[in-house]
Amino acid sequence: MTRCYIGLGSNLEHPAAQLKTALARMREIPQTQVLRCSGFYASAPIGPGEQPDYVNAVASLDTELNAETLLDALQAIENLHGRERVLRWGARTLDLDILLYGNETLDTARLCVPHPRMSERNFVLEPLAELAPDLTMPDGTPLQTLLAQCPFNRLHRLE
Ligand code: ATP
Ligand code: CA
Ligand code: CA
Repeated sequence: MTRCYIGLGSNLEHPAAQLKTALARMREIPQTQVLRCSGFYASAPIGPGEQPDYVNAVASLDTELNAETLLDALQAIENLHGRERVLRWGARTLDLDILLYGNETLDTARLCVPHPRMSERNFVLEPLAELAPDLTMPDGTPLQTLLAQCPFNRLHRLE
């Protein structure tokens, strides 16, 4: 059983509703228990051009699936939400990222874990800290240290 943290994000077609449906679908992933979800946060977009604000959250889960199989399941959910890959970092109905897969460090063609850009993103670190304030990264860095060093991007908790 591996404890994982998943980043959820949406900025199209009722983002909070997209996240709620995504969580319900994550509860159907085999050999996996969704444990908790953080509050929902509104954040300023960081991608190209004019985009609506995002809604972001982080969920914790325990899984028997290996990391690539978990990614397959998460990408299948993105596809159910009509995710289209047009521009890198462009607007999207649903994005599900594996932030952490246990204490593992992975670097394959499909998967980099810990998520390589999470330490620059307060919309990831803040909700993650809500679930696991005492978490330590696989390299030994405390989450609280990453939070203290993270650039500020406009963010507020919605609920
Ligand atoms: P970012 O990765 O900067 O958050 P993004 O989420 O918009 O950007 P995507 O277009 O959703 O990027 O994903 C591109 C590819 O990233 C995926 O097809 C997947 O193979 C790969 N990938 C690498 N590491 C991860 C990870 N930890 N979680 C999810 N996808 C990952
Ligand atoms: Ca992402
Ligand atoms: Ca992604």
